[in-house]
Amino acid sequence: RTSTTALRRIPQQFPAVAKSRAFSSTAPQNRHAIVTGGARGIGKAIALRLARDGYDVTVNDVSEQNLGFTLSEIEALGRRAYGHVADVSQQDAVANLIKASVRELGPLDTMVANAGIAQVKPLLDLTTDDFSRMMNVNVGGVHYCYQAAAKQMIEQGTPGKLIGAASIVAFKPFVLLGHYSASKWAVRGLTQVYAMELAEHKITVNAYAPGIVDTGMWELIDEGLAKKAGRKKGEMISKYSSELIALGRTSVPEDVANLVGFMASKDADYITGQTYVVDGGIIFT
Ligand code: NAD
Repeated sequence: RTSTTALRRIPQQFPAVAKSRAFSSTAPQNRHAIVTGGARGIGKAIALRLARDGYDVTVNDVSEQNLGFTLSEIEALGRRAYGHVADVSQQDAVANLIKASVRELGPLDTMVANAGIAQVKPLLDLTTDDFSRMMNVNVGGVHYCYQAAAKQMIEQGTPGKLIGAASIVAFKPFVLLGHYSASKWAVRGLTQVYAMELAEHKITVNAYAPGIVDTGMWELIDEGLAKKAGRKKGEMISKYSSELIALGRTSVPEDVANLVGFMASKDADYITGQTYVVDGGIIFT
């Protein structure tokens, strides 16, 4: 059932940028990162940030839609890009993703398990399928990526960084996002424990917990919340910005990518087992 397709053909949508923005010669050379769910949103911003920081990047997503754009933009930054379609909730598909990406771009240094899904639904309406799917993608996906990447790094005999997507809802309650919240609390848990287990291999494990980020996912959440509150689509995001976020604006994906860029850098070598919040100071009441 899982589609696993290697995308070797990289469309050239941004040839002009390619010439003008070669990456800095002081950036580390020949490092390889995988970013899951990197076709759009936060994952795309992370992939581009890592490319700017000198990484060659494997970009995974569950479908080919938009993937080519991310690959082109990485190439335009002067780095190598490899696209691989796979569903991270499938263990075999994740194992294939790692194998194929190492074959294409060399030893793996950093795995960013970013792919995730959201759903706005009250507890009393949640079905078993809703719950299982949430856990399979958001928890299973991160677990499979952490595990397979750790095995690869240990086989290589090199240090590495595992980075996963949590959320502010793993710290503070957000109504109608119960099963989503549980999945993100689970990412905090995996991150803490696997960090202890993998320390002897010089592999660090950390997670990022964004607040409200302007992406396709937030549009979906906004729509669900607005429907419940009898408001128009798009109204909730401005309400949250003005009433709930201390810094007075919602995040752009690059706000999150800045944190992940740090986590993937040498400067974060002594940090492990942590989940860092990047939310502009959210005050949920
Ligand atoms: P998004 O929906 O805009 O993008 C997610 C990408 O992941 C999509 O391209 C999608 O196709 C891909 N994806 C979904 N399921 C997949 C699967 N099974 N295998 C591979 N790829 C898959 O979401 P986003 O806002 O960019 O969120 C990225 C991560 O950040 C998610 O884990 C999300 O839970 C988390 N997050 C987002 C927000 C927010 O406000 N947007 C807040 C906190 C945490």
